[in-house]
Amino acid sequence: MTDYKISVGELAQFWRRGDINFRFTGRSTAIEGIRGHQAIQRKRGDEYVSEKPVSIDLLRGGFSIRIQGRVDGFIPVSTPPLVEEIKTLRIDVSDLPSAIRETHLAQLKIYAHIISVNEKIPFLGVRLCYLNLDDERESWVEEQYSQGALASFFEVTLARYTDWLTSEKAWRAVRDESISKSAFPHGEYRSGQRDMAVAAYRSLAQGQQIVMQAPTGIGKTMATVFPAVKVLPESAFSKVFYLSAKTSGKSVAEKTIYELDRAGFRLRSVTLTAKEKICFSPGVPCDPEHCNYARGYFDRLGDCMKDALDGHSLFTRELVEQIARENVLCPFELSLDLSRSADLIVCDYNYVFDPAVYLRRFFEDSIGKYALLVDEAHNLVDRGRDMFSAELMKSSFLKLRRTMLKKFRWLQHDWRRLTERSSLCAGSPRMN
Ligand code: SF4
Repeated sequence: MTDYKISVGELAQFWRRGDINFRFTGRSTAIEGIRGHQAIQRKRGDEYVSEKPVSIDLLRGGFSIRIQGRVDGFIPVSTPPLVEEIKTLRIDVSDLPSAIRETHLAQLKIYAHIISVNEKIPFLGVRLCYLNLDDERESWVEEQYSQGALASFFEVTLARYTDWLTSEKAWRAVRDESISKSAFPHGEYRSGQRDMAVAAYRSLAQGQQIVMQAPTGIGKTMATVFPAVKVLPESAFSKVFYLSAKTSGKSVAEKTIYELDRAGFRLRSVTLTAKEKICFSPGVPCDPEHCNYARGYFDRLGDCMKDALDGHSLFTRELVEQIARENVLCPFELSLDLSRSADLIVCDYNYVFDPAVYLRRFFEDSIGKYALLVDEAHNLVDRGRDMFSAELMKSSFLKLRRTMLKKFRWLQHDWRRLTERSSLCAGSPRMN
């Protein structure tokens, strides 16, 4: 049985260094990025295998590991066979920082290694293709590697990952022992609270879903968090997400986790706070030219994470901010990086359900199994509608109209006729 799963993209993150720089990775371009990938894949011809799934199972350092992903393209008939990774950007490729390029190349070499092993290919070409979304220009670097060279690189990468797994495993042993020894922190259950906790435990243990409704004051948060923690050692869940739409709901969850901590449970928890609320440099782009906390982030992250995890376990917003200030690190990214080692993550619904901002490190490629506790789940209906709806603002159209009519005066006549006709057809007020 595979105990640990990781995507190729996540594995390549062990090569991160340098700055946070969202000029190249901003999620606002996600849809355009997908379209850019598809445009290139269509151009590559019949021999090109797009989105080729790759995976490998192996044993290293006592860990049973599966690594999986989807490589953008593979040309088995070229000489040598060629593996391609496509990245989209909005700058000239010569301005791309070398640290980012190295992480991209690391990802490509991991794909190439897996293909070379699985398909017994002794020599492979790799192509890192950059597509500029503004002028649609392609540029690429191509290199060739022997199977041995790819294997050496892969083993170095894997060693970084298994080092991290070793520390995670040690923590889990401590955590699981504390969970087995510790009891319900309040001694006595309130009326109805025990039934609720038992129902939650059974559902979680069987990997099923349950909707529960209970009156105020019964202690719902403890009645769900306690069984979710109790089930952790013997279940397939690697983490528990406590999702709440309100700050007050998150505070109650933090208080509950604190009470478990006081009762002897050794747990790591992280509270995720919205980027716009926790940012130390509001209003500026996340890049090293504009934000001190982005500059050199990944170079300082490793030592900071080690000290933080050695010295603390309950990472509330206040603690994350304190550590981030002391180490001159972006607090939002630090909370996300800490969440990799957390047993419990307290956050808003959107980090799980919103297609634009969900946590890709956990939910992309369906690699992990997590327990979700959804506080006041009735709110999810409205929030879900917001997440999956597009909004058209009249003010944006009016602004565009003003700009266009100023720049292209000849449009004025056509515009007037168009609005007259549309108001006649729809019987609606004109957009003047
Ligand atoms: S502190 Fe703010 S601006 Fe700086 S990297 Fe973090 S989120 Fe971006």
